[in-house]
Amino acid sequence: MSRVYNFSAGPSCLPEEVLNECAAEMLDYKGTGQSVMEMSHRSKAYEPIIEDAEAMIRKLMKVPDNYKVLFVQGGGSTQFAMVAENLGLKFKKAAYIETGVWAKKAAAEAKKLGIAVDVIASSKDKNYSYIPKVEKITGDYDYAYICFNNTIMGTHYEYIPDTGNIPLVADISSCVLSEPLDVSKFGLLFAGAQKNLAPAGVTLVIIREDLIPEPENCLPGTPTMLAYKTHSENGSMYNTPPCYTIYVLGKVLHWIEKNGGAEGMLKRNKEKADYLYNFLDSSDFYHATTEVGSRSLMNVPFLTKYSSAETAAAGKKDEADRTDAEKAALAKEKEINDKFVKEASAAGLVNLKGHRLVGGMRASIYNAMTLDGVKALVAFMKKFAEENK
Ligand SMILES: *Cc1c(COP(=O)(O)O)cnc(C)c1O
Repeated sequence: MSRVYNFSAGPSCLPEEVLNECAAEMLDYKGTGQSVMEMSHRSKAYEPIIEDAEAMIRKLMKVPDNYKVLFVQGGGSTQFAMVAENLGLKFKKAAYIETGVWAKKAAAEAKKLGIAVDVIASSKDKNYSYIPKVEKITGDYDYAYICFNNTIMGTHYEYIPDTGNIPLVADISSCVLSEPLDVSKFGLLFAGAQKNLAPAGVTLVIIREDLIPEPENCLPGTPTMLAYKTHSENGSMYNTPPCYTIYVLGKVLHWIEKNGGAEGMLKRNKEKADYLYNFLDSSDFYHATTEVGSRSLMNVPFLTKYSSAETAAAGKKDEADRTDAEKAALAKEKEINDKFVKEASAAGLVNLKGHRLVGGMRASIYNAMTLDGVKALVAFMKKFAEENK
């Protein structure tokens, strides 16, 4: 068997210990003679699995008692609508900070549902390479919305905006449990599991109880499945939950606890990210795309010296409008990026292709990625730079 170092942005690598445990229990879970995949979610064997997963989220994230922990489906993308439908009835107005694709998609979904979206700050001016500083949010808003870690752009909030009495909603899909987080500062947090917690299929929602509306206080026409109350009243078992994913989630949470909890993850993640950013900042071949003070510990996009502001600008022009020099520069950039991704993959470092909106490469180094994996990446990058000067 040979395992690779997997830098995928999601679904992404899981701790090997967890995968081994799942394999060992695959055919016969604790003497039941069944796989967890085959079990009724209402069985005696399954109930403790979902209860333990919730208890572990509460413990590791220090979730206050007046918050509900829900497991729902539909991914982060469904939360974009659920947030608006459940929180948006009073003023039909919400404040969004625009920090890239995921924040924009969330705002677009709210608009579609008739919410007046105020984009109160944006980092669009510099291709979302930083997080705008918004000290205080005030106004007649049902909620204020942020994307706490921007998976595609590689940025992360180093502060929590003060919203006073306005409930703060945060998408923490790509940074959940990568660091300690003060849940009490938020009205609602959500995270698709497939970046940092589990395989795809379950979405974690943490919501302050008083924000869960009665169904008649959701936007008119809100489907049963999209009302938080449906899930909070039924212990996340209104319908069949993604049973197996929740089982793996529980194992990942125990792995996090064994490795020092949220604090332990932050220490581990800082060590990895510092190693990579320090290399990028000292290199004359590569550079990080994000500003110091806004950098993600989880997603690290980087470019080579063949990608520059000029090539980026040329890439945005229609092909017919590009000069020969621009065309040649763009072709060289593409050739180097493709070569990097291909050779890295052959060396066992996979899924490093950057997102098309940033270009270049992206290393996602979630909780389960090891420091050894990051060191192997940097060693490869040094060799590649030497060979392609
Ligand atoms: C991946 C991602 C999403 C979308 O998640 P799905 O589960 O695919 O819907 C939303 N927000 C962020 C920050 C993400 O990284």
